[in-house]
Amino acid sequence: MTGNELLRAFEEERDSTVDLLRELVELESPSTDKALVDQVASFIAEHVRGCALEPRIVPREDVGDIVWTEWGEGGEGRILVLCHLDTVWPQGSLERMPFRIEEGRIHGPGIFDMKAGVTATLKIQEFISRGWIRPRRKVRFLYTTDEETGSDASVELIEEFSRESDLVLVTEPPLPGGVLKTFRKGAGMAAMNIHGRSAHAGVEPERGVSAVRELAHQIGAIHRLASSRLETSVHVTMAEGGTRDNVIPEFAKATIDFRFRTVEEGHRVEDALHALKPRHPEIRLEVTGGINRPPMIKGDGGQQLFDRAREIGSELGLDLEEGETGGGSDGSFSAALGVPTLDGLGVNGDGAHALHEHIELDALPARVALLARLVEKL
Ligand SMILES: [Zn+2]
Repeated sequence: MTGNELLRAFEEERDSTVDLLRELVELESPSTDKALVDQVASFIAEHVRGCALEPRIVPREDVGDIVWTEWGEGGEGRILVLCHLDTVWPQGSLERMPFRIEEGRIHGPGIFDMKAGVTATLKIQEFISRGWIRPRRKVRFLYTTDEETGSDASVELIEEFSRESDLVLVTEPPLPGGVLKTFRKGAGMAAMNIHGRSAHAGVEPERGVSAVRELAHQIGAIHRLASSRLETSVHVTMAEGGTRDNVIPEFAKATIDFRFRTVEEGHRVEDALHALKPRHPEIRLEVTGGINRPPMIKGDGGQQLFDRAREIGSELGLDLEEGETGGGSDGSFSAALGVPTLDGLGVNGDGAHALHEHIELDALPARVALLARLVEKL
């Protein structure tokens, strides 16, 4: 099919695509609820079977089971299409933000990040099985289940599959206007526990050592590790401490998020966090965690991949641009291995992790067509 024929065919698929998207969004899948995410994994496996492909299930203990499948034999090399099924939204979010279409926007928890991208990926499987698109290479589809919590249970598989592939397409949400992502900052997550000594706040406060007061000091020290020149951000994202309003608090804790453009910067912040010293001599500090994802750096292969995608997009009337983000994705793991990676191939929209999360209905057919064309022609 020509680009125009493909677009027209996909336009006719719009309703069935929206129905599929609705089913996926209405199966809530917070990363932390294995039973719920497993339901989505089963749904994916069923769809894979419906496309005459064999679903492979990788059981996971603490997070949802991973699903993958592969199309094609022989051929020249392999494309990996990478998605995640989990969302940041707790069970019940559908009540506050039900699936609904309003003024050309489709709303729902996790729709932009990234159930629309999952839907596009499932449609590609369908189109391959109908013979609408005939990829040159083998195509492997991987649906992971813990991206939003750092991918601890999937990183090994992502890296193994990336090594076995010539290029990786990630159907995470794009930047505003459908702009693809070719650079992502690296991300780190750390936690600090502060142990002090409790005492009665009125009777003998001098015998206490306040963990919360120490926390206040440490929050300043942590934030000072940021560098605006190098665009390194360091933020305390959660903090708590104390037990009662009349007790000198013996314990406090904080979580820390940091983002960096180079591996060296990531190590600088990680090392500095672990080297933080208590201000009060009787306080004990524990810091755990560190770099979670390396920066996604495109390199020569990534540049060629983007240039080729631009050409393919132009045949569909799309003027594809590239951009960068501070948000992490599993594309960082493949890119760090030197495998050309193109990210942000999901559907135009806005509000990832926010109440106004939505995608643009009119963008849906063209983005599915783009993914189909990339899988076919790259
Ligand atoms: Zn995502």
